[in-house]
Amino acid sequence: MIKFLDIQKINAPYETAFQQKLQSIMDKGWYILGDEVKAFENNFANYCGTKYCIGVGNGLDALSLIFKACIQLGKMSKGDEVIVPANTYIASILGILQADLVPVLVEPDAATYNLNPQLIQQKITPKTKAIMAVHLYGQLADMNAVNAVAKANNLFVIEDAAQAHGAENTEGVKAGNLSYAAGFSFYPGKNLGTLGDAGAVTTNDTELARMVNLLRNYGSEVKYHCDYAGTNSRLDELQAAFLNVKLPNLDAENKARKVIANHYFTNISNPKITLPEYNGGNHHVFHLFVIQTKNRGELQQFLLENGIETLIHYPIAPHKQKALPQFNDLSFPVTEKIHEEILSIPISPVMTIDEADFVVKILNRF
Ligand SMILES: *Cc1c(COP(=O)(O)O)cnc(C)c1O
Repeated sequence: MIKFLDIQKINAPYETAFQQKLQSIMDKGWYILGDEVKAFENNFANYCGTKYCIGVGNGLDALSLIFKACIQLGKMSKGDEVIVPANTYIASILGILQADLVPVLVEPDAATYNLNPQLIQQKITPKTKAIMAVHLYGQLADMNAVNAVAKANNLFVIEDAAQAHGAENTEGVKAGNLSYAAGFSFYPGKNLGTLGDAGAVTTNDTELARMVNLLRNYGSEVKYHCDYAGTNSRLDELQAAFLNVKLPNLDAENKARKVIANHYFTNISNPKITLPEYNGGNHHVFHLFVIQTKNRGELQQFLLENGIETLIHYPIAPHKQKALPQFNDLSFPVTEKIHEEILSIPISPVMTIDEADFVVKILNRF
């Protein structure tokens, strides 16, 4: 059986180091916002190339705290609009809604699955304050184009970088440092994943960093003195410790993912299967390898019969979700086609070439 993602195998090499971190936290007796969180915030800011990183509870909170901080700072107001790709994971949209802002969905580019910069302008109204670019499946959105539209219209750009840790543009600028502020998730299955929930905000803006830092911890700078109605979304000390162990290997793990991806690109030759658009380079860290086919149900079944696990990211478009009735009557044909045809095949830093070969063989036989 080839698992979709063998997370135990991914974390096994770190076990001893994790145990040492747990022991050291037990010895210190400091469990919340301690040295490990501070160290991770420094390490991850350095890694991304940003001035600031603020550790938070999860990826969704990272996004919503960016918007809530913008509101506290007077940069946005409740009811303002944020443009976001219609085919994203629902968390991108919930992050906007949780700050009482209004998501405005826009069709993605059918080949890259990322925001189509050409469609942004027509969605801009006097209420538009921001564009959220999602680096979906690990591939950077076209940030030069997105930032150009934003600049021309005086809008903020926010990155949802939850799937793109370490992706970089041709100048070597990394995800998280390509916009005003970015939200990351360290959910176990992400490229940088921990043993529970965790997230972070990266930014170069001092004011925003300070406000997110306050809001994640009850809006309080001095203990028990609350200046803002914040929330509790602190990065857990133990998770930060685990992330400090794993961060130094992120680039190597992303490289290992790319070896598998390249193997797929070179060897999958079934005309019934469309491969993702990718022209080499480090702007894709292959969080997922998403293929497309008109016969998705059959293909998924055929792979399963041959011992290959697959998943669908995501089976239901956000505008079709029961949780978002305000969008249910809208029509996004590109998005809907994507959601009907996509299939994520196994990829991970611990997958072997033999396993990838087997996946290729079965795909080509379909
Ligand atoms: C995982 C993910 C999130 C949310 O992260 P959590 O840590 O699960 O809250 C947000 N956006 C995208 C694109 C994601 O993949």
